[in-house]
Amino acid sequence: MKTIVIIGGGAGGISTANHLSYKLREKIEANDVKIVLIDPSRFHYYQPGFLEIPFGLMGQEETYREMNEVLAKGITFLQEKAIKIDLENRNVTTEKGQVKYDYLVIATGARYDYSAVPGFTEGADHFYTLEDSKTLKTKLNKFNEGTIVVGVSSMPYKCTPAPLEAAFLLHDMFKSRRLLDKVKIIYTYPMPMAFPDKGISDIALRMFDQRKIESNLDFKVKLLDTKSKELVSSNGTKIQYDLAIMTPPHRGSELIANSGFGDQFDWISVDKFSLNIIGHEDAYAIGDATNLQLSKSGSVADGEAIIVSDRIAQEIDGLSPYSLYDGSGGALMITGIGMASMISSNYTMAPMFMPESYAFYWLKLIYNKVYWNMTAKAVLTGVSK
Ligand SMILES: Cc1cc2nc3c(=O)[nH]c(=O)nc-3n(C[C@H](O)[C@H](O)[C@H](O)COP(=O)(O)OP(=O)(O)OC[C@H]3O[C@@H](n4cnc5c(N)ncnc54)[C@H](O)[C@@H]3O)c2cc1C
Repeated sequence: MKTIVIIGGGAGGISTANHLSYKLREKIEANDVKIVLIDPSRFHYYQPGFLEIPFGLMGQEETYREMNEVLAKGITFLQEKAIKIDLENRNVTTEKGQVKYDYLVIATGARYDYSAVPGFTEGADHFYTLEDSKTLKTKLNKFNEGTIVVGVSSMPYKCTPAPLEAAFLLHDMFKSRRLLDKVKIIYTYPMPMAFPDKGISDIALRMFDQRKIESNLDFKVKLLDTKSKELVSSNGTKIQYDLAIMTPPHRGSELIANSGFGDQFDWISVDKFSLNIIGHEDAYAIGDATNLQLSKSGSVADGEAIIVSDRIAQEIDGLSPYSLYDGSGGALMITGIGMASMISSNYTMAPMFMPESYAFYWLKLIYNKVYWNMTAKAVLTGVSK
């Protein structure tokens, strides 16, 4: 019996488990293979919805489902927190016991390190968790006048276009409420550009000009002064705010810190093609948990899940694992109410921004619905390259 352990039931973990369940169905039924998924959360979350809740584009209850409802058959779900991984002895310690594995996939995502920016917890709002997204919606509904700062505390963070999307959605929301003359929107970014790619940054800055959205680039947030209501950057620049919508600082999971194989920010080093944890052919890491220079996105996590599940299935079938990840990822980026673009890239192609259209916007809204029965359920097994 071969045991495959997946830690984390988010975008990458669910996708890996479900792809493996389809690929290895006969072996699972013959008790030759066991798939175990470990996650303390009862629910699987569709995080892209968190950005849309404050603007009324998605309802909160549409963004999560019971883990057991999303998992394909033949997967054992342990609703437990993993607290240590021993890569040498192929063992995972959870808060309830030990789990031995033959193959390991780590998909523990990112955690938010609010303490890295003093004043963040008391002073900032954001849409990076369901609860914070709901709070932001309430605050925006009551906001009629003043300055909103929307931006990013530090790199890296999940969903590279999300803060730009928020700026455009804020603009259109206040436009439809006829409050644009009373509300100022300022976008901040910790790089000298508005987006990590120069071409897309130039497009975004042109769109800001058309909408009179101000920008303050190379602004690395050092602290939020909640008394004077100012964001202070590492070089002393200050921006006054009435509402600060800031992406929190991201780090890898505490599990990685406890297990002693992450980098200084607890991200995991993997081979960019095989996705093996460096030095461990039986262990993989995917999604936001890795230190790959890729967008921390569901599309990357899902693309990697397909490769890793292929490789494990190939090895169990007696082959040398041959599937390799090419860095493909993409995002439907909302550019306002009723408009969206699509960005795609891979290891050899710089991010490509497709012209905005109503069709991409509708695709985004449709994808929000079909995610549950398509991506999460891994029905596209066999369709990928
Ligand atoms: C506001 C927002 C908008 C986004 N928009 C998009 C978008 O439009 N397109 C896109 O592609 N991506 C988008 N993303 C990014 C996408 O949601 C993430 O990149 C994706 O979920 C990463 O998948 P993952 O499996 O690596 O991590 P996650 O989905 O975050 O899952 C990690 C899982 O690991 C579990 N875990 C953590 N620690 C432990 C432990 N010790 N033991 C066991 N389990 C543990 C957690 O409970 C969680 O279930 C967005 C994200 C946000 C927040």
